[in-house]
Amino acid sequence: MNLVLLGAPGAGKGTQAQKLVADYGVAHISTGDLLRAAVKAQSELGKQAKAYMDEGKLVPDQLVIDLVKERLQADDAKKGFILDGFPRNTAQAVTLDAELESMGIKLDGALLVDVAFPVIIERLSSRRTCRSCGYTAPAGTETCPRCGGEMYQRDDDKPETIAKRLDTYKAQTAPLIEYYGGKGILIKVDGDRPVEDVYVDVKKELGL
Ligand code: AMP
Repeated sequence: MNLVLLGAPGAGKGTQAQKLVADYGVAHISTGDLLRAAVKAQSELGKQAKAYMDEGKLVPDQLVIDLVKERLQADDAKKGFILDGFPRNTAQAVTLDAELESMGIKLDGALLVDVAFPVIIERLSSRRTCRSCGYTAPAGTETCPRCGGEMYQRDDDKPETIAKRLDTYKAQTAPLIEYYGGKGILIKVDGDRPVEDVYVDVKKELGL
């Protein structure tokens, strides 16, 4: 299973990815998680990425592309992978196609988790994230139900940044829906339902 996940921030891509990873043992490649880890580690990449992330803008393509290329070579990606948050614009999608072709790997699908913007805004502003494992849950959850870690509000889930992230999504990432539609590999599920219902559809659409 080699998949790309599409959808606005907060659509539930990460949650569906985590479920697929748990059930099918594929690698979860989340560029947001990789970048947040780099910021936390205060690496050179993290320092460069942070300013863009804080403003709800995309980090320059080359920084993210290098991260993804390295991650795709890792052993756990041999069984398959789910790309979550990448590609984020057409240039990244074209680079990914070239990279996968050079590795002799085919994308099985681009799965769009579709949620209307008003619902997204509500979800992001009440979203809390686990500092240790990245699990997300609604506000009011103080301890991570998965690993016991501390839940916090991501800086970019604060109202001033949410609007900017959605603008970035509309301008740069939403065109990928057409990009993958044109290749005949777009799969769409309604993400505005309970997690388990969405997951039933995801599996059905993927033939799992
Ligand atoms: P996410 O957790 O996917 O919402 O990503 C958080 C932030 O990381 C985004 O708002 C961007 O600043 C940055 N980011 C994540 N993935 C990418 C990507 N593929 N290209 C550029 N920036 C990214």
